[in-house]
Order: sequence, then C-alpha cells, then structure tokens
Amino acid sequence: METKWCEDGLRMIEELTTNAERIQDELLREILSRNAGTDSGTSGGKPNLMPVTAEFAQKRELFHTLYESPVMKHFGDINQAGKRMEFMFARPEIETPSGLTAASVTTSIYKESWFRAMLPKCYTSPVETIFCPEPEQSLYCQLLFGLIQRDEVVLVGSVFASALLRAIKFLENHRQELCSDIKAGQVSHRITDSGCRSASSLIIKPNPQLADLIENICNSKSWEGIIRKLWPKANHVRCICTGVMRQYTAELEFYSGGLPLVSAFYACSEAQCGINLEPLCKPADVSYTFLPNLAYFEFLPVKNDHDESTEMRSNNEDTETVDLVNVKPGHHYELLVTTSAGLYRYKVGDVLMVTGFHNNAPQFQFVERQNVAISVDQEKTSEADLFKAVTEAKALLDPLGFVLTEYTSYADTSSPPGHYVLFWELKQKEGNHCKEVDPKIMAECCYRMEESLHYTYKIYRKKNIIAPLEIRVVKQGTFDALMDYNVANGASLSQYKRPSCIKSKEALKILDSRVIGKFFSPKSPLWTCKLDSIIMIPGLNAEKRFSVATCGEAGKGSYLYYSMALAGSWFNGCGTTSYGWAECRKCKTFVKRGDFTVHQLNVIVGNLLLLPFHSAALNSETREEVAIKKIGNAFDNRIDAKRTLREIKLRRHMDHENVVAIKDIIRPPLKENFNDVYIVYELMDTDLRQIIRSNPSLTDDHCRVGIKYLL
Ligand code: AMP
Repeated sequence: METKWCEDGLRMIEELTTNAERIQDELLREILSRNAGTDSGTSGGKPNLMPVTAEFAQKRELFHTLYESPVMKHFGDINQAGKRMEFMFARPEIETPSGLTAASVTTSIYKESWFRAMLPKCYTSPVETIFCPEPEQSLYCQLLFGLIQRDEVVLVGSVFASALLRAIKFLENHRQELCSDIKAGQVSHRITDSGCRSASSLIIKPNPQLADLIENICNSKSWEGIIRKLWPKANHVRCICTGVMRQYTAELEFYSGGLPLVSAFYACSEAQCGINLEPLCKPADVSYTFLPNLAYFEFLPVKNDHDESTEMRSNNEDTETVDLVNVKPGHHYELLVTTSAGLYRYKVGDVLMVTGFHNNAPQFQFVERQNVAISVDQEKTSEADLFKAVTEAKALLDPLGFVLTEYTSYADTSSPPGHYVLFWELKQKEGNHCKEVDPKIMAECCYRMEESLHYTYKIYRKKNIIAPLEIRVVKQGTFDALMDYNVANGASLSQYKRPSCIKSKEALKILDSRVIGKFFSPKSPLWTCKLDSIIMIPGLNAEKRFSVATCGEAGKGSYLYYSMALAGSWFNGCGTTSYGWAECRKCKTFVKRGDFTVHQLNVIVGNLLLLPFHSAALNSETREEVAIKKIGNAFDNRIDAKRTLREIKLRRHMDHENVVAIKDIIRPPLKENFNDVYIVYELMDTDLRQIIRSNPSLTDDHCRVGIKYLL
C-alpha cells in the first residue's frame, strides 16, 4: 500500500525528471551566483576532502525519500510494516590540518538528526552498535539485535553487497556464541565496548526457545535461503549489487532464497546521483535515473566500441563535456559532478552507459571504474574485462559444486616477463569447508581466463611479453582478513569495495601468506584463426567465402574491429574487408572473425548483423533492421570524397519521413587503414530499380518512395 509519503516522493520524481533541463540550469545558476569569487576545480580524480554545507546534508534526506518511494511502491510502507536489519558501520571522524572535522559520507548520514529520529522505530541496530569503533564487536551486536527481533525484520541489507556477505559469513562462524547469548540473556564477554554492552542490556532477555530455533536453522546442511529462513517476514534484500558488487550477486541469491535483490540508488561521496525506478529488476539490468536537483552533472564521452577493450579507453582530458539532458542512449560517459554546494567539481571515475530516459532524465547502467584494473606491459585490462574473464572461467567450477566467493588481481612483474595473478577464494556450495579442486580444472580456469581476455593480452602472451596467467587459491577467510586490514587503515566498512588489483605490499602479504594452491595456464590463448575449412555463407556469391576457425571469444553485439589477413569477403558486394563479427545462428553467440564454429553463420560488421540478402543488416543490440552502403576507396577521388562528406553532413541534419535517414557510420578498424566508408541507413522495403522494373504504371506511393530514394 502506498502511503502519502511514498505518493509525494513518486510525484516529485515525475516533476524532477520531466523538468530535468530547467532544474539543472537553475541549479547551476544558483551554484555560480552563490560561489561567485570562490575557486573550484576538477580534482583530476584524486581523492580529496569535500566541504559539506548544511544544505547539502538536507539533500541527503530528500534523496532518501526519493529512492525509497519506488521501493515502497512495490513492497508497501516498510516503516510501518516492521524494521530494517541493515548493517551499518560509522567510521571514526578525523581532523583535517586546518582543524575541521571530516567523516565518511555514511558516517555523516548516521549522525544526521532525521536519520537518528528514524533509527529506533525503523531499524534493528541501535546507534551505539553503529558507532562502535570495533568493527567485529559492532557486527556481532548488530547480528544479535537482528536475530532477537527476527519477527519484525522486513528488510535485510547493507549499503554494498560486500558488507552483507561479510555479516552472513560472520554469522556462520559465530552462530553458537550468538545463540548461547540469546539463550542466557546476556551478551558475550567478547563485547567490551561499553556502548554496545549497555544497548544490549536493554533488549536482551533469556529466550531459550528462540535460541534453539535459530540454532536449528543454522545447523541445516545447506545455507541456501538462510536469509529467508532466519528472517521470515523479510520481503527483499537491499544492497547495491551493481558495479564491482556484481561478483557477489550469485552468492547473495543463494543465501536470499528467492527474495528480490534491490539496488536502490547510485551515489558517491561527492553526490547522490540516481535512483532505481524498477526495484524488482535483476541486478544485471538495473538502471539508475539521474535526478537533476541533486547535483550539477556533466559527462565526458568515453569510447565504447569494444575493440577498445583491447586498448582501454583513451584519456578524455581534452574531450568536451555533455550536459545531463543531452547524453545519448547507448553511449558511454565518465561522470563529472559539481556538488550542489558548488565548491567541488569532481571526476567520479565511474563509466556509465545511457540505457534510456525517464521523462527527460537519463537512465544509466554502471559499466566500470574508469581506471585500468591491471597491466603488466602496455596492455590495459579494465575491471569489466577482468570480471568477464573471471565469469567465464568460474563457470567451470559450477558443475563441481564450487563457488568463487571473492577474487582480486595482482600484476606480478618481479621477474620478466610479468604475468597476471588472480587470487581466488573458493567455497563449496554445501557445507562450510572446501575440498581441493582438481589441478587440471584449475589450469583450465587459467586458460579460460586468458581466452576471454582481450586481443592485446593474447598477442602479448603469444609473443611471450606476458607470461602465463596464474591463479592462487587462498584459504577461506582471506578476503575478510584483507577487508579487516583495509578497514584498520581507514576504509569505511559500510563503503568497503574490494580492490580489483592489489598494489600495496602489505595487502599482498596478507593474500600470499594464505595461498593453498598455485595454478598456471598451460598454453597460449588462441588469437589467430585455425584454418579448418572453408564454408559458404548462404545468400552470398560463390566466390565470397571465408575461412573458418574454432570457436573462441564471444562479445554480445559490441563492436570489435581488428585487422586480420583472411581470405575472402564478408558480405555481398563489398569486396574484401578486414574486420567483422558473426553470429552463430545455432548457438546464438556472437563470435569474432576467425573464431567461428561450423554452424550456420550470419555475418556482422560492427554490431550490425548482415542478413543473407542485399546489404540489409540487423542491429544485434536494438534488433533494428538497417541497410549498409559501402563507399569503397572513398578517398581516392577528391570529388567523390567531398560528395560522401556532403551526403553525411546534410543527411545528419535531416529528419523527415520522406528522406532516408542515416542511422550510423561504421567506424574504421584503424585510422591508418581508413579507406572504405560504411554508412548505415534505415532499411527500405525495396529499391528504385526494382520499382521501376516491376511497375509499368507508378502509383502516388511509388512516386513518394522514389523521391525519397533520390533525396
Ligand atoms: P565512495 O567512493 O565510497 O563514495 O563510493 C562511491 C563509488 O561506489 C561510486 O563512485 C561507484 O564506483 C560505487 N557505487 C556507488 N553506488 C553504486 C551503484 N549503485 N552501483 C555501482 N557502483 C556504485
């Protein structure tokens, strides 16, 4: 049931998103006039302390209302129905050199009066446990409170998925102690923090029945669905599962037993940015709608053609920014925020992709952090590349009952050539222990990872510029130790994100001292095609044929252009071209040129799937049919080159139903080899020649279509 609070929130979202442009303009004007004469600047991505004003703090409360409203629309008024068991950890404040107090953003929120007022009624954790300076004691007490109030809990969560999983693992290890506390009605001696002890004494009473019930549930052989079993009234699990947190989705799904995983918002220390209007959608499909009143947003275009995953994205220092309302669907951007206080303009370092608009406000999917995750030579591997490779490799362990719970990477350059090291923490689906995985399977995982990495990596491997990839399996609890180390060194447990690549010697020591197995890739990954056979593409001329190789990397509909000296032509009438994609019609995967299995193939250029007739093509992402025109050797003749340029320039400005529209221009694989121009048009049912040939008498419609072709 929607309450007035929720209705107001939803109405406000509609107003804000409808008037996105005006509100951003007003906000910018306000910021500029308020801060006239003060300095602000881009930080260049370096971590900095940000000034926070009282007005900024107020926005946090508004943001809370706005992101809660769509969730409440689906799950009813959570605040009335019961309590939230959210794991929250404040971090001690620090003093800046000039004597100001600085706190992590979550700590500031936990201190705000609106939050404090909600806490006793709406949350199971008392404020003393949240502010306990000892993370383990804080976690223990928050679990204790959550278990005691289990019948009231309607939501289980934390800000990021990693903290919630940490809590579940902690419960696995400390369940007996927690149950005996509940049974005896007194808190364990391990809790020495006075705040936690006094808060506990107010609520804890001997309850042997509850303790036995919890013990029974926790003693079941499998912990599948444990969240649902322990907190039977919970209707969803709330934590951010997108971005780097994607790696935890499978494990959380396992524990949550079918409860929806809700990523409610996208925010950073610099600003609150977006909310999830579809809380029930799967983590992989979540988009965040940016709200124009929260901060002034700008976007730096980032190349997204996935050939660039071979050479990560180029520096965008000189690129012009795009405003919130002018971003384009399908494009990738790095987020640049000017806080509403106006004293800070900041490159957040996140790459986002526009998935659509709600009214006039864009919606974004989180793609990755902008930084290179790992690199040992000139190749650059992004977080997303690494995630994809790990996902491919860990699939080998699924049928064997193993789960990859955590991973990180390290560029080992201690002896040349350097190589990628992946630290993996494994667990068995059933039970708490982990048998050894067959070394052959682990070696296969290394190989599968290499196979899934990008083109440059594979070439470097082939040329022995990079040595074989290594997986080091670590003992269970290793990543908890890493988290503890980082938290002890100032990271906020609430905002903790596992590093994608280890840089510090101490962190490396923690991981290396817990290694229980080392495995290496047995051979170089495939990067050139093996010429097994020649096949014909249905619908193409006899002489248009190409070589077939064994199946390799898949990349759903994204662009990947690279040169490869293969015989034959890619599609009808276009001569030899050196790049492309193909979709296997049978297994429906997209494979790179040269990586085909001998199934039936459609041929692809960019993300356009060429249908086996004319030069019609299907966009593999939008499934939209288009036509492609090739202008071969476009620069050989100056006049023709000018005509081509004129056509492109003029048509791009035309938006009329009687003029054929340009949909896209396919970019060349390499600037140096830019000879042919491929223009993508809307697809017409027929062509002028056919109309003239087949119809001696032309109807009005024919004339209209004819004129359209001429234009
Ligand atoms: P912090 O640096 O602790 O302020 O955390 C902010 C960072 O967390 C953002 O820049 C993102 O990289 C990440 N983050 C925050 N919200 C989300 C989200 N909903 N999905 C993915 N990543 C997120």
